[in-house]
Amino acid sequence: MGQESFKIVLLPGDGIGPEVIRAARHVIELAAAEAGISLSFEEHVFGGAATDETGFPLPEETLNACLRSDGILLGAVGGPQWDVCAREERPEYGLLALRKALGSYANLRPVTVPDFLADASPLRPSVVAGTDMLIVRELIGGIYFGEPRGRASDSAYNTLRYSKPEIARIAQVAFEWARRRNGSVVSIDKSNVLEVSILWRDVVSEIHQQAYSDVELSHMYVDNAAMQIVMNPRQFDVLLTGNMFGDILSDLTSTLVGSLGMLPSACLGGTVGLFEPVHGSAPDIAGMDKANPIGAIVSSAMLFEELNQPELATRIRRAVEQALLDGYRTADMLAEDSTEVGTKEMTNVIANRLSEVAA
Ligand code: NAD
Repeated sequence: MGQESFKIVLLPGDGIGPEVIRAARHVIELAAAEAGISLSFEEHVFGGAATDETGFPLPEETLNACLRSDGILLGAVGGPQWDVCAREERPEYGLLALRKALGSYANLRPVTVPDFLADASPLRPSVVAGTDMLIVRELIGGIYFGEPRGRASDSAYNTLRYSKPEIARIAQVAFEWARRRNGSVVSIDKSNVLEVSILWRDVVSEIHQQAYSDVELSHMYVDNAAMQIVMNPRQFDVLLTGNMFGDILSDLTSTLVGSLGMLPSACLGGTVGLFEPVHGSAPDIAGMDKANPIGAIVSSAMLFEELNQPELATRIRRAVEQALLDGYRTADMLAEDSTEVGTKEMTNVIANRLSEVAA
């Protein structure tokens, strides 16, 4: 019998982070109790909240708790009040430092648009319905981490650098996922301009030839990919990207689903899995009971998949789907004939459906 008791660390963070983490906790506590799985939670300060309290966005105590846990559920960090802080005190620095410390190099960002949600997108339902793609984004390398970086008196610079092993390991993740899905990978680069992208394309092709020739591989420039995602999103199965391109393209995919608040993600490959909605701290709606909690709730389903609890994950996903099918929507993705609810009510609606959809 597998492990039936898990230690989860919650990092609510800033802005709407605490609201969506409260929502996810409520849903997973209920779902786990119904499934006879025991969960213990530890909550720790992180991001701007941690800078205010301790002077650092990733306090040692928070990191140690994460490293001792079975899984980490993170809300979001950041806000204008910390934009003036020194780099090491900024919430986003804490986030990058956490991902790096965990060694979470593979960021999985699934984007699906079932027919019944297609009307929430600003794009035509006939274009987005049936979209089912997985963005596999390299997370702890590339220009966000490259050295040297800095500012001179009238210029500033960053470094985009990838090594062959860094590219190879993320390419393997993408090919493995393609095998479990629909068998195709589109690798994104800018090899018409960047040396790093030429290496990226070479290494991805090499790994493909060596071990994954059963998977269909094609390459696409990032600017074309941005257009193709909007024009014809159903053509994609697995999209393989570096850190910055993946950051930007995954926000773009939120237009397919209607809202950034819908998108979950998992950061894997390191000591402990880190699960977080794709969105940021949304200071414009923080504290207003307007945040869509679904990205965070579905991120918790990804956490349970990683903990080898697929039934629990399925139950959470089905409860979310049923709430949406029943017409409940937060303000960010209202559609005709839908019932507008706030964060708390959406959470309760999903929680109430857990027992109905028992896997
Ligand atoms: P954002 O994702 O916070 O918000 C973009 C837009 O989407 C806003 O209009 C917001 O109201 C809306 N939105 C986001 N999540 C939503 C949700 N769950 N429900 C409803 N609407 C939602 O991006 P931003 O405004 O560019 O950044 C705000 C802050 O968040 C910045 O400090 C940024 O650095 C930080 N950020 C953090 C993360 C993270 O923690 N992983 C990611 C991106 C941005």
